Amino acid sequence: MKPSFSRYRGRFAPSPTGPLHAGSLVAALASWLDARAHQGTWLVRMEDVDTPRCSRAAAQNILAQLSACGLLSDEPVLWQSSRESAYASAVQSLLNTNAAYACRCSRSDIARYWAASGTTLGRHQDTVYPGTCRHLHLQFQPGLALRFKVGQTVVHWQDRRLGAQQQHVGASVGDFVLKRSDGLWAYQLAVVVDDAAQGITHVVRGEDLADNTPRQILLQQALGLPSYIYMHTPLVLGENAEKLSKQNGAQSLDTRTPELTLQALNAAARVLDLPAAQADDCASALAFWVNAWRERWPQAQSAQPLNSTP
Ligand code: GLU
Repeated sequence: MKPSFSRYRGRFAPSPTGPLHAGSLVAALASWLDARAHQGTWLVRMEDVDTPRCSRAAAQNILAQLSACGLLSDEPVLWQSSRESAYASAVQSLLNTNAAYACRCSRSDIARYWAASGTTLGRHQDTVYPGTCRHLHLQFQPGLALRFKVGQTVVHWQDRRLGAQQQHVGASVGDFVLKRSDGLWAYQLAVVVDDAAQGITHVVRGEDLADNTPRQILLQQALGLPSYIYMHTPLVLGENAEKLSKQNGAQSLDTRTPELTLQALNAAARVLDLPAAQADDCASALAFWVNAWRERWPQAQSAQPLNSTP
């Protein structure tokens, strides 16, 4: 299904595990600018499925920080913690079509499997699921995880910034988790179900998520959902040259005064390769960047054809 220009719908989907920082503002600003440059709708979705790590206070703080920047959701914020039944019905349909299966392996079972296999593994390959439970037909019940059957598919996709991409999902991650053994819904499932439910046409988010895209494309295909146009934005690196993140102690965005907020937006715009705004307030700066964004990124009107080669 081809999203059409007139119904552009984009989103910013933070996980409320802490405040916005300079890195997450880049993704927020880019997705907002792209929506405005397409005269589209911009939504904020709170990805609070990982309930032990998320908090309402952090979510409210993020919304206040966004609001200080002038980035306001065009529709009410969708909270993933309220979407249990939508996720349950998506996994039921995957179970019905034999695209998902119950799994009793723990992380250490998987690591032990690879240690015993004698296979020479690349970085992170000891977390690739080897498919141990794929043919066991275990009854899905509390305490077991649910995995998506990936197969030997190479997913090809086009990123507006990164260009042509491909991933052999089976070799890179293997059958991935849809529901964790502790009962929490996995990000991959929730994001796919909600992007479709919200009618999203364009996904603009940080480059750290680019390698999740092929998994999400496979899930979209299995659930009969439309595909989107993707753009992954540059990351802000910390002193150790690692991506700035809450885990490595990124500073909360300082939005205590309009001047500080404008400074933060200017820094995010620089990362996005946009010119400095000669503006005294956030609203004028944003209006300036919408035009600059339009010149920098041609309008993306329809999804690239997706190829999956088995
Ligand atoms: N909730 C994810 C995060 O904060 C982003 C999800 C997405 O944009 O697809 O990293």
